[in-house]
Amino acid sequence: MGLVVQKYGGTSVANIEKIENVARKVIKAKNEGNDVVVVLSAMAGETDRLIKLAQQAAEDYDTREYDNLISTGEQVTISLLSLVLNRLGYPARSFLGFQVRILTDQDYTQARILGVEDQVLRKELEKGKIAVVAGFQGVDSDNNITTLGRGGSDTSAVALAAALSADVCEIYTDVDGVYTTDPNICSNARLLNKISYDEMLEMARAGAKVLQPRSVELAKKFEVPVYVKSSFSDEGGTLVTKEDKDMEREVVSGVTYDRDQAKITVVRVPDKAGVAARLFTPLAEHNIVVDMIIQNASLEGYTDLTFTISKKDVKETKRLIEEVAKEVGAAKVEVDDQVAKVSIIGVGMISHSGVAAKMFSTLAQEGINIMMISTSEIKISCVIHSKYTELAVMVLHDAFELEKSS
Ligand code: ADP
Ligand code: ASP
Ligand code: MG
Repeated sequence: MGLVVQKYGGTSVANIEKIENVARKVIKAKNEGNDVVVVLSAMAGETDRLIKLAQQAAEDYDTREYDNLISTGEQVTISLLSLVLNRLGYPARSFLGFQVRILTDQDYTQARILGVEDQVLRKELEKGKIAVVAGFQGVDSDNNITTLGRGGSDTSAVALAAALSADVCEIYTDVDGVYTTDPNICSNARLLNKISYDEMLEMARAGAKVLQPRSVELAKKFEVPVYVKSSFSDEGGTLVTKEDKDMEREVVSGVTYDRDQAKITVVRVPDKAGVAARLFTPLAEHNIVVDMIIQNASLEGYTDLTFTISKKDVKETKRLIEEVAKEVGAAKVEVDDQVAKVSIIGVGMISHSGVAAKMFSTLAQEGINIMMISTSEIKISCVIHSKYTELAVMVLHDAFELEKSS
């Protein structure tokens, strides 16, 4: 007898028929002798709908109220699944984040989990019940509801699996596992049976939204085996786990893209000590994550400074940067949100030369201009015009022969 945490995403709970399909999978795990904790997302499209409503209600919304609102989609699905399970003779109880006590910091809209209490859920499991928990939400130390960032139900599931020392955390979604690239935009994408935490983390951070990056960080930290599977078929499945000897050590094992990017350029910044610190400190104070940064060579005592952020932060960043730009005497601030980031990832890259050159020449052959580049030991990313995203992913997937099984 084991303890299984199962998480179902938005498309898996999009209507009552699909929720009944989830109930069948939960019951199967229960009948196999497991204790089962289920974590759910809101119905597909619901969180987007709530976000639009918030924006209509107030352009510069209060983030506490915003989180209170956008966390409600999950309350609907957990109650519906519990109703279905109870009807089918499998006692179940639904729980919101604050009822479990999924404790977070107070960084509304992108809160981090600080701790998860296991007592409430353990009590239910001891009574033989199925616990159904709202993903994406937590509670801060002042009892305010917080949310964990888009895709945050993955993180809720892994955090619960870690707190309960579950045997496995199963992430059920609309594809049957983790592929070499997004199977919805590249038909040659190949399913991976296993992937290491480190590679999955880089892929998630670089935009492969099948798992939220923070969920992989937690899985790695607490060594939670994560199994990504389809809600709609029993085929496939990818195990995210510690790197082992029989794992593929491909030079490049995946291609990702991220359209949630915007490029900000501060033009003609005086090239003096302390200017970069003055520009980026207000962003840090407002919890705005800066991804890539490029500073051009100094010309006559001036330089251009370009960086990327998430699209959702454009307005606030522009406001903050324009203020500092004026103070330090920069010429102007330019915003380009028609950009995307494409990345290639692979642990084998560390020991191979020529990978970056191959990436750049592949993009050049298609006439795709590279605006920014960044590299880490196991990743190379390029910022390009967003209209070339699909093309770039497909030609890179081809160039690195990812459709072939090794
Ligand atoms: P859920 O609502 O179940 O959480 P998401 O939409 O968040 O589902 O994540 C699943 C999606 O991730 C897939 O439909 C697919 O388009 C996308 N995706 C991007 N990169 C990959 C990849 N490398 N492997 C699998 N899916 C990927
Ligand atoms: N419902 C939330 C979202 O759409 C959380 C999730 O799906 O994981 O981002
Ligand atoms: Mg998701």
